[in-house]
Amino acid sequence: MSAEAAVGFEPGPLIDPQARVIDYLRVSVTDRCNYGCVYCIPDDGVAQADRADVLSFEEIAALVRVFASLGVRRVRLTGGEPTVRRDLPALVRLLRAIPGLDDIALSTNGHLLPQLAAPLRAAGVDRVNISVDSLDAERFRRITRRGDLHRVLAGVEAARAAGFSSIKLNTVAIRGANDDELDRICAWAWERGVVPRFIEEMPMADGRAYQPATHLSAAAIRDRIAAGSPGTHVVAEQPDRAQGAGPARYFRLEGGDGGNGGNGGMQVRRFGIISPMTEHFCTTCNRLRLSTSGALHACLAYDDAVDLRGPLHAGGPDAVAAAIRGAIAGKRPGHTFQLIGLGGPRKAMVQIGG
Ligand code: SAM
Repeated sequence: MSAEAAVGFEPGPLIDPQARVIDYLRVSVTDRCNYGCVYCIPDDGVAQADRADVLSFEEIAALVRVFASLGVRRVRLTGGEPTVRRDLPALVRLLRAIPGLDDIALSTNGHLLPQLAAPLRAAGVDRVNISVDSLDAERFRRITRRGDLHRVLAGVEAARAAGFSSIKLNTVAIRGANDDELDRICAWAWERGVVPRFIEEMPMADGRAYQPATHLSAAAIRDRIAAGSPGTHVVAEQPDRAQGAGPARYFRLEGGDGGNGGNGGMQVRRFGIISPMTEHFCTTCNRLRLSTSGALHACLAYDDAVDLRGPLHAGGPDAVAAAIRGAIAGKRPGHTFQLIGLGGPRKAMVQIGG
């Protein structure tokens, strides 16, 4: 795709050929990560952007300003691991000053939250999602290759103390690795007023880190969670796909002892599932991804992207707006993750801005 494909400079919201309104941008602030999750990083690693190509905070803010002028209301900082980018709160302050941006969220593995949760909250991060793939320290290390569960759990506590408006736990559900503890992860999260969410593994990186045999479907995730509490069943919160900011569909665990079992009182036992594979949500996709070096990806599942850094420097905001509209004109109806090896992305989440 190129800027020539742009559909013009007209004001108004970003609407793609499928009539989806695009109002959500994920910004990768670094493609570096202090962890190396086995489903994310293939054994032989992934290429990293040259440092010279990494957008500065000022460039990111200039680009986000254009997105906001086109109706983007929510931004999520991600990566790689966003907290390893030096002085992340300074970027948040720049973004907070952009008119029209209602919501700034962060996705993190939590390792650096013990020291960063409060400064990030003070700088203006509203919501935080923390990846926790196991509550067993040894397993956690195996899945993340070098993760430290105790630090991450301290990071969750730091986030709770910092007063974010929402904290969610993200767990990639992997058969044989953590599928026997999904109910325990739910209970742990619910006790802390945190919403657990389970993600189906996707064949990113040309499937190089993907084992079909360990894939756990959304239906199996629901079964595992209900099986953990006798007498319970799972009810969908809304009959159709998720409303709101993201791809998760939300459910409640009902019946059984009502959540009283040792947890001190009735709880809303709510959890989310992000199911790109077996119950995909492409028809409600509202998002774009900006890579560390300024490439705009309209769909996670394809490698093609539109450069925004060149237009920013050569033509300013109007040129960026035209390039964004061009990317949206080419946004695909849906992904092809079902066709592993036939059109899946060569890039890993960590490279695109997961
Ligand atoms: N490092 C941050 C974090 O841990 O949230 C942000 C980036 S990470 C790529 C974002 C999310 O993508 C994490 O929840 C991670 O578990 C998930 N992820 C990475 N590779 C994945 C894959 N192949 N399938 C499903 N989820 C994946």
